[in-house]
Amino acid sequence: ADAAAAVLDAEEIVMRFGGLLALDKATVSIPRGSITALIGPNGSGKTTLFNVIDGTYTPTAGRVLLEGADVSGLNRTRRAFKGIGRTYQLPRLFNSMTALENVAAVNSSFSIRRLAKSAVSGAEAARATELLEFVGLAEYVHEKATDMSYGQRKLVELAQVLMLDPAIILLDEPAAGINRTLLKRLSGLITALHGSGRTIVIVEHDMEFVLSLADHVTVLARGQVVATGDPAHVSSDPRVLEAYLGD
Ligand code: ADP
Repeated sequence: ADAAAAVLDAEEIVMRFGGLLALDKATVSIPRGSITALIGPNGSGKTTLFNVIDGTYTPTAGRVLLEGADVSGLNRTRRAFKGIGRTYQLPRLFNSMTALENVAAVNSSFSIRRLAKSAVSGAEAARATELLEFVGLAEYVHEKATDMSYGQRKLVELAQVLMLDPAIILLDEPAAGINRTLLKRLSGLITALHGSGRTIVIVEHDMEFVLSLADHVTVLARGQVVATGDPAHVSSDPRVLEAYLGD
């Protein structure tokens, strides 16, 4: 792997769940500064790969490199602090906390016992407010997470991820279940983050949405990478068509 060009490498990842082979020697390299679309039919292993990259799962075999350094031995929290940011299909926020508290307390929120408001410093609150403004939620800073819409909660989670200044941002189905207005905003945010040099990986079923943004595509089918490259090249690859027809 070329450490200078790739922010993240997942090498020969094997993930078994009992008799099921969810990832079968999948090797994925995420180019620095790219918006990479990770696509493939249902059950092809996309979310599992996110879970291996962010340290939620320990793979059966293979390793994960961040900026060329092996992070395979680090847990999810350590990887988040090292720069692997990730959002979920269903946003994971603390319902009883405000948007601001959810974002500002990100350092301590990995440990639920340390969630006292007093743990949030003025500097953290200021940065969190800035990030909530960035995602278009300036008016919702003091809204409880539970009172926000699903789409708004997803944006709070994005602000939370940005709080740790990630080297790479993994977005798991960001477009799913959000309205057209927020979808447009999300698209603008991803473009802005890309413009400021961030590296972004998107798992998404909405092909129109993801392919309008991506400059790099990796296609998984049955746990294997069947194609990778620029979107025009990949979408004309017969193996990709075959993977989807078999879905
Ligand atoms: P995708 O995100 O591409 O739809 P997934 O990564 O969610 O696919 O799933 C890949 C395969 O691994 C599926 O067959 C799924 O049922 C299986 N799988 C994922 N997570 C687990 C788990 N925790 N335990 C058992 N099987 C799992």
